[in-house]
Parts: sequence; structure tokens; C-alpha cells
Amino acid sequence: MDFRLNDEQEMLRQMVADFADQILAPEVMKRDREGTFPHAEIAHAGELGLLGMIVPEEWGGAGLDTVSYAVALMEIARVCPSSAVTLSVSNSVCAYPIWRYGNDEQKERYLRPLATGKIIGGFCLTEAQAGSDATNQKTRAVRQGDHYVLNGTKVWVTNAHVGKVFIVMAVTDPQAARGGISAFIVTPDMPGFSFSAKEEKMGLRASCTSSVVLDDCLVPVANLLGHEGDGMRIPLNALDGGRIGIAAQAVGIAVGAHEEAVKYALERTAFGKPIAQHQAIAFQIADCATEIDAARLLTLRAASRRDEDHDRAGPEAAMAKLYASEMCNRVAYKAVQIHGGYGYSRDYAVERFYRDARVTSLYEGTSEVQRIVISRAVLAG
Ligand SMILES: Cc1cc2nc3c(=O)[nH]c(=O)nc-3n(C[C@H](O)[C@H](O)[C@H](O)COP(=O)(O)OP(=O)(O)OC[C@H]3O[C@@H](n4cnc5c(N)ncnc54)[C@H](O)[C@@H]3O)c2cc1C
Repeated sequence: MDFRLNDEQEMLRQMVADFADQILAPEVMKRDREGTFPHAEIAHAGELGLLGMIVPEEWGGAGLDTVSYAVALMEIARVCPSSAVTLSVSNSVCAYPIWRYGNDEQKERYLRPLATGKIIGGFCLTEAQAGSDATNQKTRAVRQGDHYVLNGTKVWVTNAHVGKVFIVMAVTDPQAARGGISAFIVTPDMPGFSFSAKEEKMGLRASCTSSVVLDDCLVPVANLLGHEGDGMRIPLNALDGGRIGIAAQAVGIAVGAHEEAVKYALERTAFGKPIAQHQAIAFQIADCATEIDAARLLTLRAASRRDEDHDRAGPEAAMAKLYASEMCNRVAYKAVQIHGGYGYSRDYAVERFYRDARVTSLYEGTSEVQRIVISRAVLAG
């Protein structure tokens, strides 16, 4: 068993780390304070192939494996977790399902611009009453001639306002078991599509989130993704990959917070010596380093499992997401603790990491939902 990245993966990691340090880092605090989306920085990421990482080259993507994808997101999140979620959502739950389930016409029209970084995309599953209980969809899609008419409201849509293509789940057959849900490729220029006001979030302040309102939204029949009634199969498979992306984001946040904590512990003195020399602080640093490594390995294992079989990595992805997200909250907490009162100041990066960390155990399935997925797999034997 070899735990090292191969040469290509290591080169990619270095390239993305340089991009993060040189392009994302300079204004990361300002974007967080002002809540501004990193338009230029994400466009730059697109030029580097980071918006089509797991899309094959024939569709304009970088054709990377899932391990490389996870490593890249870790490096982005180490510096700018808002950019990491923007890229993760566009790659895993928008571009990927179009590549996996779309026809050639849909791929040419929507996947190629996504993969080549000309546009970013989003994913609309959650509704007010359908978060963890995702099959409880109320959005309806009724076929009328060459169109489906969609009505409903999707909440908490990452890349709202900035995205140009969204995978939207809606009920096509209310009588069917598991809700008769179908997936559609929807664009904001379709009649009846609108975004609501941006959410004021605790963290990830530079990412854009809002509801999507579908009011007699006219979606061409050609934009049905897969087949009618395929719906939950498509988002659930996409979310397995998405959860690896969020696990990687969580590892990156933890690394970023931990690096700040280590630096501070070596500089800050109390009782005549750097606080790193107080064993209580050194042991916290040891625990964080160990937990980060464990989460990284779980995440890379899930990514490697997905590379082996895109339909069988659910439990591994759930374990990685569960552990990495809860780990990153613990590490961010300790990073603030090690900073003392200064950790509570907006002048220090750990304060932002602490807020950014919080959502990782909530979105793309809460920790409780991950435990449901894992326990089902374990109990099924
Ligand atoms: C910043 C942000 C961005 C997001 N981006 C997107 C996006 O792009 N697209 C999208 O579709 N969604 C998105 N979401 C939505 C996110 O996936 C949901 O918020 C999440 O799935 C939880 O759903 P909920 O908020 O309705 O909570 P609920 O489902 O109401 O859960 C509330 C609590 O009950 C617990 N719970 C629920 N059911 C069970 C159960 N059976 N057993 C034990 N505990 C349970 C949950 O774990 C949680 O603790 C985003 C959310 C946030 C905060």
C-alpha cells in the first residue's frame, strides 16, 4: 500500500497550492468581510482546468481522477473555503451528472462551457421541507408539449446568482414510489426562473447562496437529464462525489487553521517561553495534526474507491465527510483557543476558518445523514 501521491497528482497539488497562495490569498479576508464573490479568481481557476477537473478531456475537462480532484480542493480550501465550495459544487454535482447522465447534445451545450471554465453551475435539490428528507420534494414538473412547466422553490442553492446552469430535481409523477422525481438542466434565462435575495451566512461569506424560484418555469423537454423518474438516482450518485469534495474542503480548512495555530504558538510567548513549549498547547497541536492526517487518508481512500467504481463509494464518501467535517470543527476550535483572545478578532484568519468550518457538517448531508448511510452499509453486512 502506497500512501504517496503519484508524480502527476503531486504536480497538480503544487500547481493548485501556488494558485491558492498567489491568486486566492491576497484578498481572502477582504472578500469575507465584504461578502464579495471571487469572480476574477474563479475565472482564473477555470483557465487552469479547475472547473472541469473530473470531466474527460473530450468534453473540455482536465480528465483528472477523483484523488487529484480531492487533493486540489484541499489546497483551495486551505486558503479560501468559499472558493472551494464554489468549485466543488460546480464540478461534483453539476458538471459530473451532466457528463454521467446527459446525452451528447446536452454535453456539448452545457458540459463543455462548464468544463472549460466559461461558466459555473449549481445543484437544486433542497426545499424548505426537503433537506435531509430529500425525497419529500414539492417542486412539480408537468409536461406540456415540448416543455416541462416547473413550479416550486429550491432553497440554499450554492452558486445562485453567479451560476449559469443548474441541475434541478422535480416531481414528474406524484403517484410513483420514492416521489417519481426527475432531474432537469435549467438555466436562469428560462422564463419563470428567478433568484431570491442572497443568504446572509455565518461563514463562506464569499460564496453566493440563495433560493431559486420556479414560477411556471418553461424547461425544454430536451433538458430532461436521463429519464423521467431517474431523479434520486442522479442526485444521490452525484452527492457521493460531492461528499468527497466537502470532505476535502474540510481537510483544507483544518490545514489552514492548524498552520495558523502552529505559527502563532511558536511566536506568542507566555510565562517566559513560546506557548508551543507549554505541553497543553503542544498536545493540542499533536492531536490536530493526527486528526487532519486521519481525515486526509479517509478522504483519499473514498476518492480512490470512487475511481474504482463510481457507483460503490457511498459509504466511504460518507465516512470521509462525517469524520473530516467534524474534525475540521474541532481543529478550528482549537486554533482559536491557541490564539487566545486574538482568535476572536476578525484580524486573524482562524476566526474566519472557525466560521467557515461550521457548515461542513451540515451541507451535502448532515453528520446524522452520513451516520444513516454508514450504519445501513455496516448493518447490511
Ligand atoms: C451554505 C449552504 C449551502 C448549501 N448548498 C446547497 C446546494 O447547493 N444545493 C442544495 O440542494 N442544498 C444545499 N444546501 C442545503 C443542505 O444540503 C441542507 O441544509 C442539509 O441537507 C440539511 O437539510 P435541512 O437544512 O433542511 O435540515 P433538516 O433536514 O431539517 O435537519 C435538521 C436536523 O435534524 C437532523 N435530522 C433530520 N433527519 C434526521 C434523521 N432521520 N435522523 C437523525 N437526525 C435527523 C439533521 O441531521 C439536522 O441536525 C446548502 C446548505 C447550506 C447551509
